[in-house]
Amino acid sequence: MSMENLWENNVRKVIPYTPGEQPKDSDIIKLNTNENPYAPSPKVKAILDNYDISKMRLYPDPDATVLVEAIAERYNVKPSQVFVGVGSDDVLSIAFLTFFNSENPVLFPDITYSFYDVWADVYRIPYVQKPLKEDFRIDPEDYKCENGGIIFPNPNAPTGCEESLAMIEEIVKANPSSVVIIDEAYVDFGAESALKLIDKYKNLLVIQTYSKSRSMAGMRIGYAIGSEKLIKYMNDVKFSINSYTMTPLTLLCGAEAIRDEEYFQETLGKIIDVREYSKARLTELGFTFPDSKSNFIFASHSTKPASEIFTALKERKIFVRYWNKPRINNYLRISIGTREEMEKLFEALEEILK
Ligand code: PMP
Repeated sequence: MSMENLWENNVRKVIPYTPGEQPKDSDIIKLNTNENPYAPSPKVKAILDNYDISKMRLYPDPDATVLVEAIAERYNVKPSQVFVGVGSDDVLSIAFLTFFNSENPVLFPDITYSFYDVWADVYRIPYVQKPLKEDFRIDPEDYKCENGGIIFPNPNAPTGCEESLAMIEEIVKANPSSVVIIDEAYVDFGAESALKLIDKYKNLLVIQTYSKSRSMAGMRIGYAIGSEKLIKYMNDVKFSINSYTMTPLTLLCGAEAIRDEEYFQETLGKIIDVREYSKARLTELGFTFPDSKSNFIFASHSTKPASEIFTALKERKIFVRYWNKPRINNYLRISIGTREEMEKLFEALEEILK
């Protein structure tokens, strides 16, 4: 290396996470990043309409009190059991930094949210990826060895598979010296939440997000719920990096949105209905998939390679997600859109598969 580039030896180098594409065109059908096809609660609109911009002069509340209290009320926990951040990515990142601080490896599945290994790399956390079983399910025995922490999503991404609460409890119980994190980004679409176990296990952290079930991916709100001790440790790390993470407007919109339970249940119901309909249509078209409890379906076609379907859909301005990675390179992850969007997808698929 030449003298003038020697400084590069001291750079923290990392291979970054690749987020799903956000195409600029407006006339596309976007089923590639598991966004909610419906707008957030109309009550959020009222907050925006009445917002006094002079408040922007001031720093936001570093404790995010209005939002923390609204989330605590919704889940019937103490505000001191809630941590909020800029999307669950921020919450997960702080959790990795706070709790995964051992010489022993952190454990997570080989097929899972592809940000976990990136956070582990950037924070220099050792990790081991445990292969999912042939049917994409977790083997709890894999998580009963010495480790520096455990994390997986439930339902898992990108497979959509739900693991039982009994199995999650079995893993938490077997690991009293580690923090176990359940990433529940998709739990509202029909899986059982591990929140039921947080009083019993002080080392269990549950992370959720407004990005999918609450239609607010653009507002960037995520949260963790767990024992007061876990939350205190996360806040200590957060306040050592950046105290003012959430804008005042975000806090207000987030608090208002979570109070509108009726609207939440109504949109969830619609997405679940369209998901179940989509399972039937995809099956008719020759696709197979693990049963999904999320707002996406991870589907593989019996004859046509996923990469070809992906490209053919893109030519028709329909975006789904495809990974050219071992074990999953013949699958497409299809987010559940509106019924109308899904009909256009099925029409396109009929044509492509003809
Ligand atoms: N966890 C999982 C499993 C996800 O799929 C996503 C979405 N990319 C996230 C967390 C992060 O979502 P957000 O930061 O929007 O809350």
